[in-house]
Amino acid sequence: MVVPCYNEQEVILEFHARLAAVMDKLGNPWEVVYVNDGSKDETFPVLCGIRTGCANCAVLDLSRNYGKEIALTAGMQYSQGQAVVVIDADLQDPPELIPALVEEWGNGFEVVYARRKSRAGESGLKKTTAKLFYHVIGKLSRVQIPANTGDFRLLSRKAVDSLLAFPEQHRFMKGLFAWIGYSQKAVYYHRDPRFAGESKWNYSALWNFAIEGITSFSTVPLRLVSYLGSLIAIFAIIYAGGVIYKTLVFGDPVQGYPSLMVVILLLGSIQLIGLGVIGEYLGRVSNEVKRRPLYFLDSYQISSLSKPSSASKAGEFNNPPHSDEE
Ligand code: UDP
Ligand code: MG
Repeated sequence: MVVPCYNEQEVILEFHARLAAVMDKLGNPWEVVYVNDGSKDETFPVLCGIRTGCANCAVLDLSRNYGKEIALTAGMQYSQGQAVVVIDADLQDPPELIPALVEEWGNGFEVVYARRKSRAGESGLKKTTAKLFYHVIGKLSRVQIPANTGDFRLLSRKAVDSLLAFPEQHRFMKGLFAWIGYSQKAVYYHRDPRFAGESKWNYSALWNFAIEGITSFSTVPLRLVSYLGSLIAIFAIIYAGGVIYKTLVFGDPVQGYPSLMVVILLLGSIQLIGLGVIGEYLGRVSNEVKRRPLYFLDSYQISSLSKPSSASKAGEFNNPPHSDEE
C-alpha cells in the first residue's frame, strides 16, 4: 500500500489500525509505505510511532509539500510488492475494499480501480463540477479516463513500473493511470465522508487540477484557437470586400466608429484568450525542460520487506530503488 499523508494527524492511527486488520486477515505478505508530504502538523511523529510498532511499515519524509501526485510517485518508487494499492489516508477509501481489489488482480487484471457509486459528504456543487470535468476531458482526450474514479486502485508491478517510467513533472495521475493501458477492471464501492481533518481541495485547487488534466492530456484547446482564428479570418475577408466595394462605389464619408470599436475590441480579446491558451502550454513546457528532480527525501525508514542496500537513491527518478530486484 502507498499512502500519501498531508496533515493527517487525526486519522492516521485509525487508518493504520483498520488497514492492518484487513491485511492481516488477508494473509499475504504486505507492506505499507507512508509518505509524509511535508505535513505541518504532527503527522510525521505519529507515522514514526506507527513504524516503531509495525515492521511492515515504511515511512518516507519528503523535504516539503510536493502535492499528492509526487507523494504517490515517491511511495511507488519505494514500494517492493508485486502489486501496489494506492489509498488515501483519510478513510474515504475504505481499506476493507482491498481484498476485493486483490481478488480481481488474482483474476489477471493489471489495474483494478475502485469506482464510487456514491460520494457521501460532498456538496451538490462538487458533484456537478466533477461530472462536468469528466465530460469535458472525455471529449478532449484520446485516453478514456473513467468517471467517478479517484486514485484508489490496485496496480500490478508491471503497471507500477510503467507509471514510474513517466519522467514528467506535471503528473496528472488520473490520466496516467488510463494512459498506461493494460487490462483494467472496476470494483464498485460507496465513498465515505472524511473520517477527520479537512480536504486539501478547495475550488481554486480543483480548477487548477482541471486545467492540469486538460493541458496534460489534450492539445485540442490549441487547435480550437486556430480554428477560431481561421473562422474569424473568413468573416474578416468578406467584410473587407464589402467595405472596399462600398468605398469605391459610394465614396468615403468618415463613418463607422462604433463598428470599428467593436471589431478592435472583439479581435483584441480573442487574441488575448488565444495567447493565454498558448501560455498555459508554454508554461508547462518550460517547467518540463528544466528537468528538475521530482522530489527530495528528508529521511526514510524502510519496512521489513525492503532490502536495505537498494533503497538509498532518494530523488533519483530514473533509478527506482527496486529496479534491480524483480
Ligand atoms: N495529500 C498529500 N499531499 C497534498 C494533499 C493531499 O499527500 O498536498 C493526501 C492527503 O493526505 C490524503 C490524500 O492525499 O491522504 C487525499 O487528499 P484529500 O482527502 O485532501 O483529497 P479529497 O479526498 O478531498 O479529494
Ligand atoms: Mg479525502
